[in-house]
Amino acid sequence: MELKKNQYVIDGIPVVGLAEKHGSPLYIYESAGMIRQYKRITEAFKGSRVKINYACKALTNINVLKLFRQMGSGLDAVSIQEVTVGLKAGFDPRDILYTPNCVSFQEIEEVVKMGVRINIDNIAILEEFGHKYGAEVPICIRINPHILAGANHKISTGHIDSKFGISIYQMPHVHRVVETNGMKVEGIHMHSGSDILDTEVFLQAAEIMFDTAKSFSDLEYVDFGSGFKVAYRVGDVSTDIESLGEHLSVRFNRFCKEYGKDLTLIFEPGKFLVSEAGYFVARINVIKQTTSTVFAGLDTGMNHFIRPMFYDAYHEILNVSKPEGKTRIYTVVGYICETDTFGWNRKMTEASEGDYLLFKNAGAYCHAMSSNYNSRFRPAEVLIHEGKDYLIRKREEMDDLLRNQLELDIL
Ligand SMILES: *Cc1c(COP(=O)(O)O)cnc(C)c1O
Repeated sequence: MELKKNQYVIDGIPVVGLAEKHGSPLYIYESAGMIRQYKRITEAFKGSRVKINYACKALTNINVLKLFRQMGSGLDAVSIQEVTVGLKAGFDPRDILYTPNCVSFQEIEEVVKMGVRINIDNIAILEEFGHKYGAEVPICIRINPHILAGANHKISTGHIDSKFGISIYQMPHVHRVVETNGMKVEGIHMHSGSDILDTEVFLQAAEIMFDTAKSFSDLEYVDFGSGFKVAYRVGDVSTDIESLGEHLSVRFNRFCKEYGKDLTLIFEPGKFLVSEAGYFVARINVIKQTTSTVFAGLDTGMNHFIRPMFYDAYHEILNVSKPEGKTRIYTVVGYICETDTFGWNRKMTEASEGDYLLFKNAGAYCHAMSSNYNSRFRPAEVLIHEGKDYLIRKREEMDDLLRNQLELDIL
């Protein structure tokens, strides 16, 4: 997004015009931003045979999946429904890695039938899988390397109490199950959760992965998951992907030599690929001066945009209707009958009822986490692609809210 002739434009298209045309509130995505991030990461790791699997739970619109497929990306799916959308978007089943946690064995069996790659993160499931499929269906094993348990609280899935993955301390057990059932392990995987800031920490975890990898003789890939951090506000530190690429590629290639085979290095970013390429726009319904602050009350709430309330996430907010002029301090809130504050004490250009506010970094985990709470319709989504805007999801209507409700005639 940039400021041009006193209006905010995304890929040349005025934001206010988009909100007027498609209605408010509205999610807007720019494909150019996704393409840029995808190129950045593939470029950073170009020294190795790298494959990117887009983690589609961040933003699951089928058009976004198609865009990533066209760029050569694979897919990381965490549910059978995501796998189904991925197949519908045209992904080759072998380009989809299914990484479930605590799902039923029945779901895993159904996904096996779809021909996608399976990631197993639990010894009980590994045993059941081995009994049923033996050598027939190769698998990936999700490992919990326990990187810096307790020292780095930001790495939230790799710690000792995490429900994710099979602990590295249980590898002897894994090997017994694999050998007894003659299973083929084609990949090992880790996903450190969130917020990798320190390349060193990541490289430490990589050493544990290489060490574990040596004990499996049929590997085709090593998957390092994601957790790449993006900046949400000026001054935020984000993952230095270029530096990580430079160091890890060298180390990975050295490992491949030792291992005696050219393995594929996989990453599965969600947030890194789509966060900055998304914007959320809503209109001010009410300006309310109280004894303590001035509230700007929007035509949306935490039902559409939950990250500030759920994760204490900071999203930059701009008044796109008044790009320039005098500024004031506002507390930006939603219309839900519950406290839903998007931002306290935000400095913005002076706002009036009817102005449009824009939230940045709204590509990842925003529309995907929206709900119908307060019986509101979920917002529309627009994709800006090669200078044109396309409606890629309709705003919901009353029928959508009532479709699955069964009205009893006894009441
Ligand atoms: C959520 C998830 C990702 C993506 O994480 P980001 O922080 O959005 O990059 C990758 N892999 C798995 C298994 C996940 O569950």
